[in-house]
Amino acid sequence: MGILEKMRLDGKTAFVTGGARGIGKSVAAALCEAGSNVAVVDVDYQEAEKTASELQTLGTGVIAVSCDVTDQDQVNQMVRTIVEHFGSLDVAFCNAGICTNYPAEEMTFEQWKKVIDVNLTGVFLTAQAAGKQMIQQGGGSIIATASMSAHIVNVPQPQCAYNASKAGVRQLVKSLAVEWAQKNVRVNSISPGYIGTDLVLSSPTLIPLIEQWKKVSPMGRIGRPDELQAVVVYLAGEASSFTTGSDFVVDGAFTSI
Ligand code: NAD
Repeated sequence: MGILEKMRLDGKTAFVTGGARGIGKSVAAALCEAGSNVAVVDVDYQEAEKTASELQTLGTGVIAVSCDVTDQDQVNQMVRTIVEHFGSLDVAFCNAGICTNYPAEEMTFEQWKKVIDVNLTGVFLTAQAAGKQMIQQGGGSIIATASMSAHIVNVPQPQCAYNASKAGVRQLVKSLAVEWAQKNVRVNSISPGYIGTDLVLSSPTLIPLIEQWKKVSPMGRIGRPDELQAVVVYLAGEASSFTTGSDFVVDGAFTSI
């Protein structure tokens, strides 16, 4: 099989959490282009439906599924719905995440818990539900969205819960990769640098910082969601068959300096 053929995902089924917008939406489009059926999974069902109907024009099966990744019953139901609809689950992109900024000494327990629940527990619950299905089927590929914040402490924004949650995702991914290596379920993560999505562009705290980030970024700019498409498509399919437990930093060399 040639390398371009190994990058194809024809006949596979993927879900993308946080798929309604931003990085998830862009990657969902790429998975469709590579031939996969896609479930656009999001807590914002209205936006997920809009995204799903846009992606349906790409020619593969696309559905929207409402799911809060912090709720185990909803997560398990989400996987059941997808398998009932498409017949299998081959690729899970556990990507939903939130970012908040509170100085550590002022952060309430609820503020801490919310970020950990969505970013870390949400990845565990979605990966666990996907992993169970994939083990039963004989294999699959799980990709989680960590962040360069798993590796460095971003400045000047105070986001210790976010940074800790993403470092947790990184170690969770390695742990699952080892546990499931003999079961043909591969687990990897991506660690994006600053990307121009609502997470950044709709945050009154973060908007004023963009120019500062650009000044210290080797490439002098932030990234676009489409610049994460290829790495996820690669990790989803046969081209990455010996790649598991790995993390792919895509940050324009931000963490290299
Ligand atoms: P975004 O805000 O544009 O999109 C996130 C999506 O996740 C939204 O559609 C939202 O409704 C959904 N979501 C939030 N909580 C959810 C929940 N509990 N259950 C289900 N869906 C939920 O953000 P984005 O920039 O596309 O971020 C996607 C991922 O990338 C996140 O994990 C984020 O931490 C990570 N990331 C983003 C950047 C960046 O600079 N934008 C950098 C590194 C990592």
